Amino acid sequence: MPSPPAVDSTVPESKHRIYLDHAATSWPKADGVTDAMVEFMTNVGASASRGNHASAMKASERVRSLRSKLARFVNAESADCVSFHSGCTSALNAVVHGLVGPSHDIGRGSHILTSSVEHNAVLRPMLVAAKAADARVEEVASDANGSLQVNEVIGKIDDATRLVALSHVSNVTGTVQPIAEIGEAIAEINQSRNASNRILFLCDAAQSLGYVPIDIQTLGVRALAAPAHKGCGGPPGIGMLYLSPEWHDRIQPWMQGGTGHDGRSDAMPQTMPGKLEPGTMNLPAIAGWTAAMNSMAALEDSATELAALSQQLHVGLNGIDGIQVFGRPGPLPIASLDFGPELPPDDAAAILDAEFGIEVRSGHHCAARIHRHLGTDSAGTLRISGGHGTTPEEIDAVIAAVAEIAAQITSLT
Ligand code: PMP
Repeated sequence: MPSPPAVDSTVPESKHRIYLDHAATSWPKADGVTDAMVEFMTNVGASASRGNHASAMKASERVRSLRSKLARFVNAESADCVSFHSGCTSALNAVVHGLVGPSHDIGRGSHILTSSVEHNAVLRPMLVAAKAADARVEEVASDANGSLQVNEVIGKIDDATRLVALSHVSNVTGTVQPIAEIGEAIAEINQSRNASNRILFLCDAAQSLGYVPIDIQTLGVRALAAPAHKGCGGPPGIGMLYLSPEWHDRIQPWMQGGTGHDGRSDAMPQTMPGKLEPGTMNLPAIAGWTAAMNSMAALEDSATELAALSQQLHVGLNGIDGIQVFGRPGPLPIASLDFGPELPPDDAAAILDAEFGIEVRSGHHCAARIHRHLGTDSAGTLRISGGHGTTPEEIDAVIAAVAEIAAQITSLT
């Protein structure tokens, strides 16, 4: 077994650095992102929705403009359906804690459906909110590649089901879930229910926004959360929640604070998006996300390149003896793999980093339950994830490196 080198993150300067950890965060960022953030801090600097001076108005306009842009991007009914949060995690917390609770719309005795592929950003707030509400959480199991089946999801919906929360794309295997089909079936069920009993279909689009076209109406989701820093190539520290108008009056603010409006009131505003946006907004991140959206190539163009990289990655890895590969070729170049007991994923990642200059992630990727279905519960997987800007040469390099490590293990066992 190759012994893991002492981790020295200073890869020799002469070695090309290959970043294949886009599922953690994209890097490098989209064109213009850093410049736009610096420009905002240099030339504007003020807070949005606070004050009527020229700089505050400029800041407010930046927020308004990005809100409208994102609303159009996901085909939301209006810009008011988009609220800003400090990331996808806080957007998910806002919708879960805003609707699930003892005195909330989704309360005592409700049934909540989620899946085994979900990220802790969905699962953890869900479990806490459901416990407080005395609601029942049920999990749909994935197959050994992280795929969910439509009939298994729909088959678990009962009269008490009020929330179905699923991710669009798995951050562990890159698997795309059949969200539109599930959305259609949920819409049909909702037609026979009265308004107070409808199911909220929530989609975690952390791993898809900016990679895969998202049309809220086609997907049939009624809430969707996503960050700026992954597929959009934007900065960390900002994310969005889309919430459909029928839920605007029902959601309760999960955080309280100043919103810049109606400051004499002790209560949060009742209107969207302000009711979910207490506190000073991350304006440099708003500027950076705007630049990322402006420089984004048409998704149809990048989709072809990303799908080709995915094919190359999966075919290459599947041709290597002695490793197990999870996921299938799809729209994103993501794969998880396992070298077996001889080389835990953490050690494999350390070797790739120190000896090959290739940066990938190991472990459970904040989505622990999927590993029970992959058979990688104890140590997780080694995850290779490319994104916008990843080249075929970089994919070839990681395949060659994995093959070399696998051959070394085989020769020693
Ligand atoms: N869901 C999924 C599927 C993710 O991959 C991530 C981030 N890794 C999140 C939610 C949370 O996103 P963030 O850390 O940007 O808040």
